Amino acid sequence: MKDVQGKHIIVIGAARSGIAAALLLHKKGADIFVSDHGSISAEAKQKLDNAGISYEENGHTKKARSADLVVLSPGVPTEAPIIQYYLNEGKRVFSEIEAASWFTDQKLIAVTGSNGKTTVVNWLDHLWKIANREHALAGNIGVAFSDQIESNNGDFLLEVSSFQLDHINDFKPAVSMILNISPDHLNRYQNSLEAYAAAKFRITENQTADDRFIFNYDDPIIQTHVEHLKQKQSAPQMWAFSNKNEVPQGAFVRDDQIIFKFNNKEEPLMPTQELGLRGRHNLSNGLATALAARAAEIKNEIIRESLKTFTGVEHRLEVAREVDGVKYINDSKATNVNAVWFALDSFQVPITLILGGRDKGNDYSELVDQIKDKVHTIIAIGESKSRIEEQLGEVAPNFVKVETMGGAVRAAQRGAKKGEVVLLSPACASFDMFDSYEHRGKIFKDEVNKL
Ligand code: ADP
Repeated sequence: MKDVQGKHIIVIGAARSGIAAALLLHKKGADIFVSDHGSISAEAKQKLDNAGISYEENGHTKKARSADLVVLSPGVPTEAPIIQYYLNEGKRVFSEIEAASWFTDQKLIAVTGSNGKTTVVNWLDHLWKIANREHALAGNIGVAFSDQIESNNGDFLLEVSSFQLDHINDFKPAVSMILNISPDHLNRYQNSLEAYAAAKFRITENQTADDRFIFNYDDPIIQTHVEHLKQKQSAPQMWAFSNKNEVPQGAFVRDDQIIFKFNNKEEPLMPTQELGLRGRHNLSNGLATALAARAAEIKNEIIRESLKTFTGVEHRLEVAREVDGVKYINDSKATNVNAVWFALDSFQVPITLILGGRDKGNDYSELVDQIKDKVHTIIAIGESKSRIEEQLGEVAPNFVKVETMGGAVRAAQRGAKKGEVVLLSPACASFDMFDSYEHRGKIFKDEVNKL
């Protein structure tokens, strides 16, 4: 437990996690000031006022430069001048998960990766419920870790982004997981995949031989880093998962059976067909979930039941409705090309694909093989529709550009036949037309419900 009594701590960024950190640190006796370069919501101000914490908004004044140490909200980039000021002064800058971790001795199970984090932490939540183990779900999923510190006396199941990992110091999960590493958010890492991967691997940096690191054996970038990690003096125990290869220690698939392997002993767990979620990526997510549960000494019987009964998370390959024998699938959370690749891979029937939104420099050509194989119609929406047309216009038999989600759903209905799938899996951010990916998914479902 760290003593912050009387320390002058400035929290930069008054979004949900920043506010939660401010309130927690204040409770622990620190002298807190909150500073935001934009405006602070009325709700956040109310919370700060109630706690008697002072703050400033719409810019950082001299007051924001007087801290002993700084805690930053995950939305604030390291490049922000105020953060650069502190780093140049040689002062410590910590992320919110780092600060929260100072005040708990409970077991931390921390999940990171480019895709699948939310699915896996929710799957863990489901599993921990079935196992009847006290726990709290927190991190990047809407509830800050700092918010749960006082109320949870069990394990913490944490979704952790690379931005949060950029500013850790003592954060030490008992179980850490890296699900996969693919190019996303590279803009925050000088466009270097290497820097982005290194940021993710910081999840292991304080782990020791009593801790476990669970990783994707099939991911070449992860493999390279694992080789380095093995050289470290106090490395965690490493458990791998794979849906393609047999692993030395961990979980894999042989003849459609999921198998655990520890200390050269194999334990058959269950047939892959019995998994609650479909798609190869969800097989990986399920294997990762199973290993984390095993690391927490949960019985195989409970793991098996939880893998069978999990029904997934909204906006991730969610079945919205079936109309005239056509399934409408909401995968609005697919905001990068890799997620769309796995979405397409999940279906063995002809697909109408709704793509587009705000483009982050996507290379859609990675989808060409899957599209040739399965997609008869591409419907492009949003800002990126012309760019998509340039790259994919000739790849599927039909290509349509539309202006609205309603237009997209109706165009999809015209071309889809019984037994087929209409898939919203945009590969893009939603902010050109919607408030968020949740909003986009909801509008898609509303339009599907009108059919
Ligand atoms: P995250 O929290 O990391 O963004 P989500 O669980 O919200 O991940 O899933 C984001 C998108 O990625 C969804 O479209 C989902 O279907 C897809 N996805 C989920 N797991 C994986 C995986 N292991 N590999 C690739 N894509 C995945």
